[in-house]
Amino acid sequence: IRPVTNICCVGAGYVGGPTAAVMAYQNPHLRVTVVDKNEQRIRRWNSEHLPIYEPGLGDIVRIARDGSRQFQFTNEPIDQSQRPHLLNFPGRNFLQHDAQITVPARLPNLFFSTQVGECIREADIVLIAVNTPTKMKGVGAGSATDMTSFEAVASEVAQHARPGAIIVEKSTVPCRTADLVRNTMAVHRPGIHFEILSNPEFLAAGTAMKDLMYPDRVLIGSSPTPSGRLASAALASVYAAWVPRSRILTTNVYSSELAKLVANSMLAQRISSINSISAICEKTGANVDEIAASIGSDPRIGDKFLKAGIGFGGSCFKKDILSLVYLAESLGLHEVGEYWRQVIVMNEYQRDRFSRRVIACLNNTLAGKKITLLGYAFKANTSDTRESPALEIIKTLLVEGPREIAIFDPCCNPVVVRAEIKALVRDQPALKEDGGPIEVYSSAYEACASSHAVLITTEFDEFRNTPKAASKDEPASLPTKSPDPRPFPNRPNGQTETELLSLHKYLLSNASTAENVDDPLGRYVPEPACESDCPDC
Ligand code: NAD
Repeated sequence: IRPVTNICCVGAGYVGGPTAAVMAYQNPHLRVTVVDKNEQRIRRWNSEHLPIYEPGLGDIVRIARDGSRQFQFTNEPIDQSQRPHLLNFPGRNFLQHDAQITVPARLPNLFFSTQVGECIREADIVLIAVNTPTKMKGVGAGSATDMTSFEAVASEVAQHARPGAIIVEKSTVPCRTADLVRNTMAVHRPGIHFEILSNPEFLAAGTAMKDLMYPDRVLIGSSPTPSGRLASAALASVYAAWVPRSRILTTNVYSSELAKLVANSMLAQRISSINSISAICEKTGANVDEIAASIGSDPRIGDKFLKAGIGFGGSCFKKDILSLVYLAESLGLHEVGEYWRQVIVMNEYQRDRFSRRVIACLNNTLAGKKITLLGYAFKANTSDTRESPALEIIKTLLVEGPREIAIFDPCCNPVVVRAEIKALVRDQPALKEDGGPIEVYSSAYEACASSHAVLITTEFDEFRNTPKAASKDEPASLPTKSPDPRPFPNRPNGQTETELLSLHKYLLSNASTAENVDDPLGRYVPEPACESDCPDC
């Protein structure tokens, strides 16, 4: 095992980019390079316009990637979810409020590159953080994990890694994938020993930086041999730069691989459980929020992940449950597979129940009507739209032939949403520009204007009611704290809190009068680089 000075992360996606950025930020003495075969993605990681949106990500990348610049901030109360790294700044609690703080200059130690083989060759630790979606054809289609990208990277690593390098599965992979990597290494580099670790990532989209800066736990699985333990300790030392040792858990490699699938399946199961209860509540007059509060105060149950809604989305929950189902079934444990599959069945039932209810509320016909969806991302504070419930709802509504389906999302670029809908709805013209009914707006007011129904499909704070919900005759009251006039530093659209509060007020009023409302949100400015011919994008 070599001393660690150089880390290479293969895969510059939602996991690879932020994880490598935090590793580099917290270990200024290490060189961290993120490589990806996608040139455009790498170009954007190297630009001012990062390819993904996460609160706080821009600051961390800027500090680690462009390290030679000094970084200044004002010692004002910090919203931890927005700028988690600033909480760590030594001494900030002793500084006068409003003092200007300068983080000392540091050398750049975070790099983004398309030179995959070359960067692997220089690394002491290679993290594999590529996508592992559900297999769509062939054996196991619909539930097994598609290991195409992972396998391709494993063989690239096998060809280029230097002897003694530690290979780390960062991607979520089926249990016993370490054997696959070990065999691949043995085929390409017979006689050379490599340690394979499993280090699954537990970050959640929307809170990725907070989760990475303050993880509940870091899990490292290794083989139980002395060199396996040494490799595990080497990776642990990278995390120990900012994670308390007590939170770094070590297990055998298969436990670590399986733990990630189980974690996501259990979280999704809680959502499906409470959603199933919401269906009973709607038939009985019980209130699902009251039930959740009542059961959540029992510490054996806990209050997290008990919010009934339109079901979970995102790139991970469904595919990870399916992977667990496939594992159980391929082990002949059919009842176990069925048990976990039901979590997905319930999720789809809940989403469809919502769409059906919307249609029923509109007299079972959407002809000539405009329906607005507020929120397109699969959850708040992310631009990640993979497996978004909104898209499935749109597909169901489309069949009813509405005059218009209007979409607004505060974090997603309208250009990207349009392209995605075009690619995903193939059986009929979807977008207005193609003769379909869907329009993606840059302004929430325009999206809501003259709408027959406004559906809140992502739980963005912007769409929440004010604490005291307004009655019909009374205008919505604004919270007592004075609105912060600064633009949200991390919101791509640069909206101010004042503007967002106006949106609350507006949503509480009658949507169909929207044309008469003064339109402070009309100034939504999508990242210009992505709207036009930006050389970065
Ligand atoms: P992603 O699709 O955002 O990124 C994967 C990247 O890998 C892409 O940029 C792709 O171009 C690159 N890639 C694919 N094949 C490659 C190759 N042969 N060479 C170089 N680059 C290659 O995926 P993600 O969301 O970052 O997820 C990565 C892994 O992390 C998955 O296994 C996922 O299950 C897991 N995970 C994701 C999350 C999440 O919130 N997104 C959370 C925890 C774990």
